[in-house]
Amino acid sequence: METTDDKMERRLYSHDLAPLPKEMDLIFKTMPDHVDRPQYTQDVVQLVTKAISTKVALVPRGAGTWGLGGSVPVKGGRVLDMTAMNKILEIDPVNLIARVQPGITWKALSDALDAKGLFLPCYPSSAPSATIGGWVSTGGTGIGAYKYGTAGDIVRDMEVVLPTTEVIHTGDKYVPQNGCGPNLNWLFIGAEGTFGIITEITLSVLPKPEEMRPLTYSFDDVMKMQPAFVKLARSEVRPMHIMFGDKLHYDYLRAIGKHAPQVGCLVTCMMTGSKASVDMEEHLLDEIMKNAGAKKEPQELATHEWEERNYEFRVRELGVGAIPGEILVPMDKLNVVLQGTAKLIKDLKLKAPLIGTVADQNTVMLMPYYLTDEHKLVASTASMGFAKRLGDLASDNGGRAVGLGIFFAGNLSKYRGKNGAELIRKMKDLLDPHGIMNPGKMVQTGTRYGISMPAFLMNFGMHMMGSMKRILPRDKIGEKELSKLK
Ligand SMILES: Cc1cc2nc3c(=O)[nH]c(=O)nc-3n(C[C@H](O)[C@H](O)[C@H](O)COP(=O)(O)OP(=O)(O)OC[C@H]3O[C@@H](n4cnc5c(N)ncnc54)[C@H](O)[C@@H]3O)c2cc1C
Repeated sequence: METTDDKMERRLYSHDLAPLPKEMDLIFKTMPDHVDRPQYTQDVVQLVTKAISTKVALVPRGAGTWGLGGSVPVKGGRVLDMTAMNKILEIDPVNLIARVQPGITWKALSDALDAKGLFLPCYPSSAPSATIGGWVSTGGTGIGAYKYGTAGDIVRDMEVVLPTTEVIHTGDKYVPQNGCGPNLNWLFIGAEGTFGIITEITLSVLPKPEEMRPLTYSFDDVMKMQPAFVKLARSEVRPMHIMFGDKLHYDYLRAIGKHAPQVGCLVTCMMTGSKASVDMEEHLLDEIMKNAGAKKEPQELATHEWEERNYEFRVRELGVGAIPGEILVPMDKLNVVLQGTAKLIKDLKLKAPLIGTVADQNTVMLMPYYLTDEHKLVASTASMGFAKRLGDLASDNGGRAVGLGIFFAGNLSKYRGKNGAELIRKMKDLLDPHGIMNPGKMVQTGTRYGISMPAFLMNFGMHMMGSMKRILPRDKIGEKELSKLK
């Protein structure tokens, strides 16, 4: 196992997708003291044993593509870079399972399955870099979720090193967990690395569909998507994935010289199945979209959009960062939340394109993002204010923000109720009696001083950051490039 305490390397592990301004050092010690790269389960057991005796925090990390600080220390300690545990241990084409180490990327597994005529039912759009262990630990939703379910739904079994050094299996390689007591897989799916370290995962896979056909439709206004999605959910049509982007998203893409349409919004669906079933579904989908006022766009654009599905933040090329907010909203509240999001963007003087996916038949995931220099205090401050208010908007409409991490740990009670949150905290104490496993996340916001920040204070602070943004001058990033568009 490799270990480093080189300062430059450690600095790389002191942030994830969303770097924090250096002023945050007053509250958090995000720089780890050591970085370890375990290769085997036994390496992880050794590190946990050492952490218990030295009382040092362990922070599991995949590729660091999540933006809520889950893989960033709050009080130093050891970061466990899991990307050296990246082997495919088994692909079983008869029982349709793949057993892997957690540090392999979704793309690498997908490519290996493809070569054997198999197919990964779902993956995050960050699949080229995100690890299997990372996405399972965030319990995210992503590509394939509409038809096949999401990360948690395809996990059959995991090997986990508990914060007390025991190694357990959470499920069974071949059969599901029905009728044998609580399903332990779900204890660790979405636990954000706070309950234990996943060292092996067995996933269900599928035979590759005979036909995979992307289709794309444009609307003159995002508000027209909702009736189409409602109709679609009640029909026999089951796209593998449904994703969309608004006018500003495509304007930005054209502003940076990419091929992108001039539309009010574009909805792209990926159909999978036999050729005959996809032909039938395409016919039905065309009818649904036409009745909702959409125009079918050429196949070439649909194929292009599908090929771009892993690169939705290309406008970062403007030379600054792109900060996303991410919320899940019930289908019937989609237009109310779209209106609320537009108002919030205006109030905070932002320019924020909108992208999103239809997560399942009941739920839409919205991800507005805006361009800013996230290393600067004001910009980073604004991002937290925006994300906080966006999450509140979702909650007020029966939805929620996605993920807890460091900054949204205070939302646990809001989402699980007081007693539910208390039970989760008790489970954390039971599983991690020494408090070494990714402390200061999910159940509470920790600080470098070892004391937690009260939820009300964190929420109030984030709200005030939004208020600060309101009185600051309007952001002008990207305006010059947009003004050059015809
Ligand atoms: C361009 C882009 C697109 C994205 N698209 C999606 C999307 O479609 N859907 C979605 O849900 N998210 C998406 N995300 C967010 C992010 O990519 C995912 O959450 C991702 O899967 C995280 O994987 P990671 O390997 O980067 O994990 P990290 O960011 O390194 O870690 C995430 C969390 O998992 C924990 N963790 C990591 N490995 C382990 C392990 N082996 N055992 C225990 N805990 C562990 C960490 O402690 C942390 O709390 C996207 C991000 C980007 C930048």
